[in-house]
Amino acid sequence: MKVLLVYPEFPDTFWSFKHALPFQGKKSAYPPLGLLTVSALLPASWEKRAVDLNVRPLKEAELDWADIVFLSGMMVQGPSMKGVIARCKERGLRTVVGGPIGSAQSPDTADADCIVEGEAEELISQVAQDLESGSLRAHYKAPALPDLTQVPLPDLRLVSLKKYSAMAVQYSRGCPFTCEFCDIIEIYGRRPRTKTPEQVCAEFDQIYDLGWRGRVFLVDDNFIGNKKNVRKLLPELVKWMRDHKYPFSLLTEASLNLAEDPDLLQLLHDAHFNSVFLGIETPSAESLKETTKFQNLRKDLLESVKLIQSYGLEVMGGFIVGFDNDPPDIFEQQIQFIRDAAIPISMVGLLSALPNTQLWRRLKAEGRLLKESLGSNTLLDMNFIPRMDTQELIEGYRNILSTIYYPGEYFNRVLTFLSHLGSTASPPIVFSDIVAVARSLWRQGLRSDYRKEYWKFMGRALHRHRHHLDKAFTLAIIGHHFFELTGTADSKS
Ligand code: SF4
Repeated sequence: MKVLLVYPEFPDTFWSFKHALPFQGKKSAYPPLGLLTVSALLPASWEKRAVDLNVRPLKEAELDWADIVFLSGMMVQGPSMKGVIARCKERGLRTVVGGPIGSAQSPDTADADCIVEGEAEELISQVAQDLESGSLRAHYKAPALPDLTQVPLPDLRLVSLKKYSAMAVQYSRGCPFTCEFCDIIEIYGRRPRTKTPEQVCAEFDQIYDLGWRGRVFLVDDNFIGNKKNVRKLLPELVKWMRDHKYPFSLLTEASLNLAEDPDLLQLLHDAHFNSVFLGIETPSAESLKETTKFQNLRKDLLESVKLIQSYGLEVMGGFIVGFDNDPPDIFEQQIQFIRDAAIPISMVGLLSALPNTQLWRRLKAEGRLLKESLGSNTLLDMNFIPRMDTQELIEGYRNILSTIYYPGEYFNRVLTFLSHLGSTASPPIVFSDIVAVARSLWRQGLRSDYRKEYWKFMGRALHRHRHHLDKAFTLAIIGHHFFELTGTADSKS
């Protein structure tokens, strides 16, 4: 059996980093870890090829070669996935769809021959057997949430690592919390399952042996969801990193209760984690209560962020507007919080009711659902009737983005962040970093409309934060992505 694994293209959103990647000469942020894990679960005797459409287009010859096409992705990749399914259908080539989009009953997957709902580990051998015996069913549903200690190493040999700006490793799935809008807990459950420290170290060995040096993203829903286990893992990661002379800088996603645990913060620091994405959502306590994000109410939000930054961790923040309890001045409150907390990368989105979430069920019962969510909360498109006037909400949201990503405002925020940032170990310098700095000086320093702000920022960073200069360049480049995306790149200094 010849299987072609296809990863659909991401649209140009905050998370695509499409305007920052060319500085490093990279095509995409991370390799398609889920699909490469599926490949490792398929029979060893099958021939496998992978195409990541974020790296290059799919060739006709590859479709000619394949007996079956496996696709995986998130809802936001739906339009690209739909296009691939249509091309396969035209030539009578069957398609199997999995990943979060497979569990979301997205209309974009309606023409697929087979939908795999749930996590692949419990199902994939049955799908493979049925394919071989010619009895592939239209729908498979995982009977249980799989034990991650049985997950094999991903088939990384199928992709070219140098096309990516970071490698991806998954340690856990699931999250113990109950945020009303969250689909993670519906798909992956509220009992976080983890790999063993030995498995994670084996994945580190794999990417190290393949020659990777640089950023590694632990792509968990909530890395500290199972604190007991993560306390066992981190000392092993500290040891692995020390034994290998710190070849990686690590980043992950976690919940804000990380700030309640100085021991864990110290371990993250010692393992050379230098960034963490936190779902902060909103400074409005009433809105946090509404969305049952109680873990964000236990400590002062601002103090929590500053504490985490003091351990040398850059905080990237997720923020949402559109809650029923958002006060009229929520837009100014969000801007002020992001400014005070000095969170350079602030992913602000409009609330979206994802399928099968508690929010989706409540809004449906209240008769407020308008349509399916597109899976991206940064599109100017509400899929439910908000309490606030829709136009006022969208205008306020736009105003947040154009304010926080105005180049002068952004660069000032980065400078404040650098003054909050505790000691960090220098990440390994790789060739693409040197190229990125040269391109930043040329593209942002000489060619951009915001070059005056850029040089003011660089001058201050050099003067006051020389020891964090690598961070200053990285954040200047990432800033360019947000300036382009929010239309502020043309702002004259
Ligand atoms: S903390 Fe994050 S992953 Fe966990 S339930 Fe809330 S939104 Fe979902």
